[in-house]
Amino acid sequence: MLKCREVVEQADAYLASELTSWQRFQFNLHLAICGYCRRYLKALKMTQQISQQLTVSSQPSDNDISALVAMIQQDEKK
Ligand SMILES: [Zn+2]
Repeated sequence: MLKCREVVEQADAYLASELTSWQRFQFNLHLAICGYCRRYLKALKMTQQISQQLTVSSQPSDNDISALVAMIQQDEKK
């Protein structure tokens, strides 16, 4: 079983689909039982998507940022 620290270390590779199928399996297994790592991965994914968008568009407006904050807050209520 993976430890939370190992999940955090492999998270980038996981999102980039660079893990082997066995590593992915173990990763998903950990996510299934660990809400902390699920939240971490979700936040990481969101950050990556945003930074990708930022490289194509200009600086985010205040509206974009408050929409993002609302999205994260909504997510935490679940
Ligand atoms: Zn964990």
